[in-house]
Amino acid sequence: MSNIKADELKKLESEMAEDKSLPLRESNLVFGEGNSDSEIVFIGEAPGFHEDRLKRPFVGRGGQLLNQLISEIGWRREDVYITNIVKRRPPDNRDPLPEEIDAYKPYLKRQLEIMKPKVVVPLGRFSMNYFLPDAKMTRDNGRVFRLGETLIVPLFHPAAALRSTGVLNELRGAFKKLPNIIAGKNLVDVPESRPAPETSKKPPQAKLF
Ligand code: URA
Repeated sequence: MSNIKADELKKLESEMAEDKSLPLRESNLVFGEGNSDSEIVFIGEAPGFHEDRLKRPFVGRGGQLLNQLISEIGWRREDVYITNIVKRRPPDNRDPLPEEIDAYKPYLKRQLEIMKPKVVVPLGRFSMNYFLPDAKMTRDNGRVFRLGETLIVPLFHPAAALRSTGVLNELRGAFKKLPNIIAGKNLVDVPESRPAPETSKKPPQAKLF
């Protein structure tokens, strides 16, 4: 593991911990974990009860499914990197508010600038729409988008897959594409996407083509 990236991430985490302007400060900071040299970063929505308690992302039932899917394609959880857009738990596991996403955005941006992953996998629609404002989960699960130098492959959120066998099958099918995408064998399904706007207040209608 490159100490440089790991050190930079540690510094960013300390900065976040000190940032009193961030919302949801009554819950714990769940910065993210894994291999800071990983070519792939999985990004969920926000920590839940278990994540808040353990200060680790995806450690509840959704996390167990994520671990299983990762191992089914021959990878290990510790070899990838896992984080969330919003890095503290919204009360009662409610959806993150647009202003909470906005507040945490600069930190996710910097986290990705440090890591420079080849592939970003947004898990669920909040994370997907952060990168791809016009994407739709039912249509775009497992499709490969190019955003600058990065490939974005949105996937259904594991929690949604726990509620529906159909979603689980689609998620599992899309997950199996990831090794090829990392190996550069998968052609981009959608040539060039526009980055998400700096603020989520009034997202312009992005064109995916
Ligand atoms: N759901 C998420 O989006 N993130 C987690 O860390 C756990 C559950």
